Amino acid sequence: MAQCPRCQAQVDESELRPLMGEKVCEDCYIKLVDLTKECDPWASYVAKRTMDKQGGKLTADQQKLYDLVKVKQEVPLKMAAKELGWDESKIHQEVITLRHLELVKTKVLGPDTIISL
Ligand SMILES: [Zn+2]
Repeated sequence: MAQCPRCQAQVDESELRPLMGEKVCEDCYIKLVDLTKECDPWASYVAKRTMDKQGGKLTADQQKLYDLVKVKQEVPLKMAAKELGWDESKIHQEVITLRHLELVKTKVLGPDTIISL
């Protein structure tokens, strides 16, 4: 058995996937790969269309996250989740949406993902 360095899950060695110099379990890989790959133009287009339908406004949660990033300029994903009281899957989802809207950027630094403007 091997252990995922991110979520500490016990998984079979063969299930670990290489990601940025680490070997992580499939769940972490799926979550993180969205944050590491380049934004795809189609996803970006869809996110913008969705926002237009909402009257050009962010949802309340997206706005909260965006405000936090505006204040801090750069905030680690985990810290942002803590400040907002969200779990990791929730923050991933909102960050990815804001990224598609080209309001924030993400960069992965070791075990942390940094959200910035
Ligand atoms: Zn994991």
